[in-house]
Amino acid sequence: MTAAAAARQILTQLHAIMASRTHAQGKLDRVVDIIAENLDSEVVSIYLLREGMLELFATHGLNKSAVHVTRMAIGEGLTGTIAENVKTLNLAEAKAHPDFQYRPETGEDKFHSFAGVPIVYRERAVGVVCVQHVEPRRYEDIEIEALQTTAMVLSELISNNALIDEEEALGLAPEATGPLTLSGLPLVKGLASGHAVYHQPRVTIDQVMADDTEAERQRVYRAFDKMREQIDAMASNAEFGKGGEHEEVLETYKMFAYDEGWGRRINEAIDSGLTAEAAIERVQQHTRMRMREIDDPLLADRMHDLEDLANRLLRIVSGQLGTAATQGLRRDTILIAKNLGPAELLEYDRRRLKGVILEEGSLTAHVVIVARAMGIAVLGQTRGLRGLVREGDEILLDANGATATIRPSQSVADAFFTRFAKTKERQAAYAELRDVEPFTRCGTRIQVMMNAGLRDDITNLNLVGADGIGLFRTEFQFLVSATLPQRERQLRLYRDVLDAAGDRPVIFRTVDIGGDKAVPYLRSALSDADENPAMGWRALRLALEREGLMKVQARALLEAAAGRSLHVMFPMVSEPWEFDAAKAVFEQQLAFLKTRKKQLPDTIHYGAMLEVPALAEVLDLLIPKLSFLSIGTNDLTQFLFAADRANPKLAERYDWLSPAILRFLRRISQAAVGQAVDLGVCGEMGGRNLEALALLGLGYRRLSITPVSVGPVKELVRQVDLAEITAAMNGWLASPPPDLRAEIKAWAEQRGIAAE
Ligand code: PEP
Ligand code: MG
Repeated sequence: MTAAAAARQILTQLHAIMASRTHAQGKLDRVVDIIAENLDSEVVSIYLLREGMLELFATHGLNKSAVHVTRMAIGEGLTGTIAENVKTLNLAEAKAHPDFQYRPETGEDKFHSFAGVPIVYRERAVGVVCVQHVEPRRYEDIEIEALQTTAMVLSELISNNALIDEEEALGLAPEATGPLTLSGLPLVKGLASGHAVYHQPRVTIDQVMADDTEAERQRVYRAFDKMREQIDAMASNAEFGKGGEHEEVLETYKMFAYDEGWGRRINEAIDSGLTAEAAIERVQQHTRMRMREIDDPLLADRMHDLEDLANRLLRIVSGQLGTAATQGLRRDTILIAKNLGPAELLEYDRRRLKGVILEEGSLTAHVVIVARAMGIAVLGQTRGLRGLVREGDEILLDANGATATIRPSQSVADAFFTRFAKTKERQAAYAELRDVEPFTRCGTRIQVMMNAGLRDDITNLNLVGADGIGLFRTEFQFLVSATLPQRERQLRLYRDVLDAAGDRPVIFRTVDIGGDKAVPYLRSALSDADENPAMGWRALRLALEREGLMKVQARALLEAAAGRSLHVMFPMVSEPWEFDAAKAVFEQQLAFLKTRKKQLPDTIHYGAMLEVPALAEVLDLLIPKLSFLSIGTNDLTQFLFAADRANPKLAERYDWLSPAILRFLRRISQAAVGQAVDLGVCGEMGGRNLEALALLGLGYRRLSITPVSVGPVKELVRQVDLAEITAAMNGWLASPPPDLRAEIKAWAEQRGIAAE
């Protein structure tokens, strides 16, 4: 008999039992008999989790008196090991296994062979079903598969209270698992409490047993077709915003999506009587189990890919499409994901999103910058995250201390909320600094501006008391739109921002699309594959060639600033002519508006970002053309160190407080001395206290930073004596100590300067 046929028979009979009016124990007793008959097993036993222990609930072949008597802890004996590892065991000689434990009350001493599979509910084992034989033999794949299918059905029946009446006692409630603390890398500092929401929710399987096998088969065919279409579309769009790693992932996706073996196994599972959803899950469980046996990190990565794909297939087949952003988000969401793109994050309602935990992520990835702008704490590089956190788990996220506590105990929660209250107090203290001008101890006024990009950011300007917006990332509007924002929409946003800013300057950066800021509706216009999108056709490079895009934006900005002063900044300028060409586009539009007798801006200030190291070599040629220059330390650092800002493996490798970057920044500030150019920094670096201190020591007097940092940096400025920090910085850079960060920190602490 095939596995499918055996499982089918079992399923049909289980169906009949479920419909019967027998009490729960009676049903379980029948279940073990049915499995024994169909698999020709001498022993079939079902252990279920009760009060944290695995208890023998029913047996065919062992002493009946052991039922509800034999109990073992998770991890104890063969059954406990299966439950602990959520992993099948198939042993010709059970006694030879190191975890074997003999239980005399069961009378199992005469049985040699043993096979057991976990009964899995929400990715945890809630029981074990096992078979035993006198004759020493390894069980065939078809027997194991039939057992696994049975275990799956049992899991559904248990969760529906169809087999036992005491769900709570079985430990199925999510709270049943203990607290757990995960550590990661703080990407956006902050504290948040809430409940886990998967960015790509796992599909809930409501029905395991099929009513109509042929219909289920058709559903899977259609879902496969659709999934392959999606993967092919993703692969053919890979030229934009995708790096080498992405391509590799897509290749693997394609390989899995077209793998005939996968489709065949799902069909076999359907033949055994399962619904399409249950069949996909059943095959996935089996694959998970196989993969776990192979201890290879590369394969583990592949497993994630396959999980993603299987989940995609499940979502298609069940019609549960879309990310959590589109599915009635809970009010206290802590978002769980492997990684996210900036546009994906922007889809979320920021009032409901309290925090994000990523398995990957790096400090200057755009998604993290967006989260920072949204004021949402992010913990990245959290290993094993998706295997350990379940949907709906309570989470205390401490992205200051680099941890997330899952299912916290009362005492941990109390301590956390005390700290939370203190942080809020500190924030309130910063709010008091809102109207205080940041003068250094020696009396120099430092410009503390903020970075923005979303309409909602405007309110932050008054809230934090920034001197203006030193970087308005105009591409955010493009990222959140489903279609290219037309001139009218751009104009409205820019005008609203200028209205809100009043007298304070707003530096509008022209669109910086490309790299990890992929815009779906521009993909078709881009034909060449970019191997290194961060260094590819992005930002000004793209804007100068797609002149239409830039013209529209220029018109929108010029019209929005009618009768006021306009600051325009060009991103990723690599050579001075690019600045000239971009400025010319604006001047043309200005001339056009003049002929139309439109009201023009009173003044226009043109500036450039220095993000490409080569520009530092030609500053003497560029600076006379500029009214301001802003250092984008995010891109600059990635190009100086040749380290992809979005690569999680490099996230902690290079420090902003290392001599190379600090010396480089000093060269630039020295080149600007005595020139009529307003110099500033607008990368993430300036928003961290120690880094801001270093920048003051390097001669920078204008910082544009993330809104939450405005208060802390203002406080820092008021504690600094510029001559003192400049002298110290010169000393450190003349002969750098081995750990410059530690040195600067100690220096600051000695002087009572707020270093963190
Ligand atoms: C930078 O590169 O430092 C910068 C401010 O621009 P973005 O982070 O948007 O690339
Ligand atoms: Mg940049």
